[in-house]
This record gives sequence, C-alpha cells and structure tokens, in this order.
Amino acid sequence: MKDAERKMQFLFALRSKGVTDGRVLSAMEKIDRGAFIKGLFEARTYEDMPLPITCGQTISQPSVVGIMTQALKVQPRDKVLEVGTGSGYQAAILSQLARRVYTVDRYSRLVRDAEAIFRKLDLTNITAITTDGSHGLPEQAPFDRIIVTAAAEDPPGPLLAQMKIGGIMVLPVGQEQAVQSLIKVVRHETGYDYEELRPVRFVPLLEGLGKE
Ligand code: SAH
Repeated sequence: MKDAERKMQFLFALRSKGVTDGRVLSAMEKIDRGAFIKGLFEARTYEDMPLPITCGQTISQPSVVGIMTQALKVQPRDKVLEVGTGSGYQAAILSQLARRVYTVDRYSRLVRDAEAIFRKLDLTNITAITTDGSHGLPEQAPFDRIIVTAAAEDPPGPLLAQMKIGGIMVLPVGQEQAVQSLIKVVRHETGYDYEELRPVRFVPLLEGLGKE
C-alpha cells in the first residue's frame, strides 16, 4: 500500500471511531505519526493501535489521541499542560491547536528524544520538561487545558488546583491492571464537574523521576 493511501485509511479510521472535529483531524493529518516511531514497529505507524517506545512506555492509540484532544476543546489562545510526553506525538498535535504547550515526563530520555523531533518538525511552541507531573507545573500555572496521558487512581489534587476557572482537564483514572475511565473535568467558579467519556487503558502515572 502506498503512503498516501495508508494515511487516508488512518484518517478514515479516526472518523469512524468518533474523531469528527475538523481542527483535530487536520492537526492529525499534518503531524506524521511516523516521525515519533522508530525501528521494529515503523510498519504499524498508521494502524490504530498503541505501540511500544523507549523506557517501557507506549505511544497512545491514534483514535484515543483524537478523542482526548477533541474532548479538550483547545482554543487558539490556550496554554496547555500535558503530563506524559512519551514519544511527543500528543504534544505535537496539541501544538497545532494551542498557543503554547508545556509537556512533562518523568524520563529525561523521552523528553530529550521528543525535543529533537519537535526541533526537526519546527514545532516552536512546545516546551518539554523532565519532572514528576503529578505535581503539575506550578511555575507555569494556571492552565486553560490539562491532558494527562498516564492513569492515576484519582485526578491529582495539584492538577485540579492548576486549572483556570472555565478550564478543562482530560485524563484516564483507575488502577493499572483494571479497566480505566477517561474522564473530563471542567472547573467552575464554585467547583468541578466530572464526566465519564469511555473506557481506556493507559500506563500508570508514577511518582518521582525515572532512571533514564
Ligand atoms: N502522550 C504520549 C504517550 C504517553 S505514555 C505520546 O503521545 O506518545 C505515558 C507517559 O507518562 C510515559 O512516558 C511515562 O513516563 C509518563 N509518566 C508516568 N508518570 C508520570 C509522572 N508522574 N510525571 C510525568 N510523566 C509521567
């Protein structure tokens, strides 16, 4: 199959799985997932499945990236925090929709690799930082949007506190081996609204920094 045909199928699969937002689809058309996948799994770049990356982590399934991005309703002036840089793919999609993206991972190796790809693709509005994202990023808070791409048992308190009023956070919650739920949190003047979106499966949100 030719590349162009594979990409058409990729976009078709996204639509058929509920990714219908035009801005999200064009960001996913523009950012080539292939730039974030190396080696053995390159051949599966355009399949709708999660794939292994370094440090024992995974690049999420494209339809899940699409659905999470869509639920986040990113606006062009937004400052976004992503917890869980991984390959950098989700951050790159967000960079097309937001004013500025801060992405953090507990592995410095993943952060360095992702930064090199952002430079190559000339994505200048992403800042990648090695830190434990369960504490958020206090020096840049508050955020219009927060996306977490690793599962915590509950929404971490510091992340809730770093949302702007009117802000949205999308994150998976639940235990590592159990079925997790993707949830959307909206912050109001007087509190938070929670909505369950769908079952998902993510690697766990871990405390502290990784070894590599
Ligand atoms: N969004 C990524 C996929 C993320 S996989 C992509 O588009 O490829 C989940 C990532 O969360 C892993 O890289 C893992 O190291 C990271 N992670 C887990 N716990 C974390 C924490 N407390 N702080 C920051 N990153 C964390």
